[in-house]
Amino acid sequence: MPPSVEALRRLCREDLEAGVEDIEATGRLPEEVVERLGQLGAWRLGLPPEHGGFGLPLAQLVPYLEAAAEGPAPGRMLVHLSNGIWRPIHRYGQPAQQELLAEMGRGRAFVAFALTEASGGTGRDLHSRATRSGDKWLLRGEKHLITFADRATHFLLTVASDDRRAPDSLTTFLVPRDTPGLDIDSSQGTMGLHGTGHGFLRYQDLALPDAARVGAVGQGLEVAMHFLDYSRLSLSACMVGLAQRALAESLAFARRRVTFGRPIADRQAVQGHLARMQALLSAGRALVREAAAAYDAAADAGGLGSEDLSALSATTKLYCLEMVGEVTDRALRVHGGWGYTTQAPIERIYRDARGFWFEEGTAEIQSLVVARHLLNR
Ligand SMILES: Cc1cc2nc3c(=O)[nH]c(=O)nc-3n(C[C@H](O)[C@H](O)[C@H](O)COP(=O)(O)OP(=O)(O)OC[C@H]3O[C@@H](n4cnc5c(N)ncnc54)[C@H](O)[C@@H]3O)c2cc1C
Repeated sequence: MPPSVEALRRLCREDLEAGVEDIEATGRLPEEVVERLGQLGAWRLGLPPEHGGFGLPLAQLVPYLEAAAEGPAPGRMLVHLSNGIWRPIHRYGQPAQQELLAEMGRGRAFVAFALTEASGGTGRDLHSRATRSGDKWLLRGEKHLITFADRATHFLLTVASDDRRAPDSLTTFLVPRDTPGLDIDSSQGTMGLHGTGHGFLRYQDLALPDAARVGAVGQGLEVAMHFLDYSRLSLSACMVGLAQRALAESLAFARRRVTFGRPIADRQAVQGHLARMQALLSAGRALVREAAAAYDAAADAGGLGSEDLSALSATTKLYCLEMVGEVTDRALRVHGGWGYTTQAPIERIYRDARGFWFEEGTAEIQSLVVARHLLNR
């Protein structure tokens, strides 16, 4: 039986939240809470039962993602990534790589997604290069902004395997952390999302066996998109959860803050902010739930990977990142100057919400996917 959504919410919203000052200051996670999240089953909610998971479809996962996102960022990031990153390995991984899935569900293995480069554009423009020699590959290049570079036991690393810059020029590898030639520097500081261990990967002579390949040679873009089509929806559910938290903070503050003898909650100007936040949030939640149902239907019909689904996923992310941006803007305004201080939770929530502009692709790139789909139809 999967855990209750409430149990996950309590662990993230209360137990992880209790250590948030330390997380913000040091980036270190309270490992005892992380352990309890694992014991609850948070890493294997969507994982298929044959690998020890609960096999929840996305529509049933969404409430867990929303609940996790009400607490500090590392909680939702762990739940989001663990319940997504197994998918490309399950679909494209070689039989020996599939054995990692159960370990991931138990929290003994943790895979980070490594695509973005400082030297090139994401997608066909990757500059990292894999050269094949017999049964071996030699990888050269760099990645940055890799979430949980600090704690990942493996990296799902996508690089160019020829110089054509074509859709079939990328290949993906599953690389254990301790592989000689892989230099990991997890000191990349970020505006928000503290405790999510972003970092650089650098590799000049990273030798990998062909057994490390995930999917066929040239299938790397498809492997990455298999993850991204799912994870843009998963991330959208997290945006709904964070927006819900921003609204809850705003309601509580509006009730307790008194100016000119009355709580600011009595003022129509403040009520306008609260009502607009609720309207945006409700629309975002409805869109995520509808998109999750469509994702599950496509998965049941063997239709993952379609252009329709990529466009739906991008549309959902595009709306939800605008939604969480405006909700957290308004929440900050409701809090007045106190909200701008580091004592106020909304200060952290506001910063954390800005990460969504970039995670799993920018708004501009989502727009490009959506517009291309509309024009091609
Ligand atoms: C919190 C966080 C977590 C992340 N986690 C990961 C991770 O785990 N793994 C990973 O691989 N990456 C990760 N990233 C990286 C993220 O996916 C990229 O930052 C994002 O895709 C944008 O790429 P870029 O930073 O290279 O921006 P750039 O490509 O440099 O874009 C700069 C600007 O130009 C625009 N632009 C660029 N190209 C085009 C184009 N062709 N058409 C129109 N506009 C364009 C962009 O929209 C943006 O406004 C993370 C980023 C953040 C902030």
